[in-house]
Amino acid sequence: MGEKRLGACDIGGTSIKMAFLTTEGDIIRKWSIPTDRSEGGLNIVSHIARSFNEELEQDGVTAADVIAVGVGAPGPADPVEGTISGAVNIGWENGYPLKKLLEEALELPVFIENDANCAALGEMWRGAGNGAGDVVCVTLGTGVGGGVVSKGMIITGVNGAAGEIGHITVVPENGFLCNCGKKGCLETVASATGIVNLYKAEGKDAPDARTVFERAAEGDAAAKRVIDRCAFYLGLAIGNIANTLNPAKVVVGGGVSEAGDVLLAPLEQYVRQFTFPRAMDVLSIEKAKLGNDAGVIGAAYLAKVMTV
Ligand SMILES: [Zn+2]
Repeated sequence: MGEKRLGACDIGGTSIKMAFLTTEGDIIRKWSIPTDRSEGGLNIVSHIARSFNEELEQDGVTAADVIAVGVGAPGPADPVEGTISGAVNIGWENGYPLKKLLEEALELPVFIENDANCAALGEMWRGAGNGAGDVVCVTLGTGVGGGVVSKGMIITGVNGAAGEIGHITVVPENGFLCNCGKKGCLETVASATGIVNLYKAEGKDAPDARTVFERAAEGDAAAKRVIDRCAFYLGLAIGNIANTLNPAKVVVGGGVSEAGDVLLAPLEQYVRQFTFPRAMDVLSIEKAKLGNDAGVIGAAYLAKVMTV
């Protein structure tokens, strides 16, 4: 027996990160299992439940010592129905009843949310957000993910599509085609893929965004213009988000943000250019701090706030 704990899962296309946390958000134990995408992802729930119970046993505790379990999953989550849609890379059909199935398997209360939103909650609670209740997270990876936390709660919108920062239109005409079907989305110019898109539009080619950053460091004028344009588009989107939500912090994470000041310094300038002065007075741009743990920490936060 010990202090009551929170359970957390961050379901991804290749692995499922799992953890137990204290109610203060400290990780007690974390581990991961592979994502079994066979048979339409039919086995995932039972795998999570088995692994979860095995790890509880190792700590000499039972499900009775767990307050609730928070789960992040890829795709829009319906917080009322407890369903996940658009998790195509896992194999689940739209409207997959994840909350109900996990509650039956774990015999515990389960709360689900989109994975990017969980990461935003994690950074807000224990990461770069430092407990500030009004935080916007932007994750620059293969795509651009986002999460909006207002007064400590994730903004989900009517059907879970709020916070899709990657699909803010920043190139209104003749933009690149996005995976979502629109053109000119932030994701088409500010993700790792987007940076390569911009470089190609300069008549050059690079295998990945890292190479574009390396060439900029070596003095390649086209690569430097690409990074400036990427910062401009991000700054435009973040400025308009700040004008709408008046957050304390915008947390920038993901692989592309590892480029550091070469991107973040011009980004700050553009954010300042596009943000209403009163909103700018309280705004700071921070680098994400939690890395891969953001998802489970945010999922635990969700479990905590939904059960008090
Ligand atoms: Zn899009």
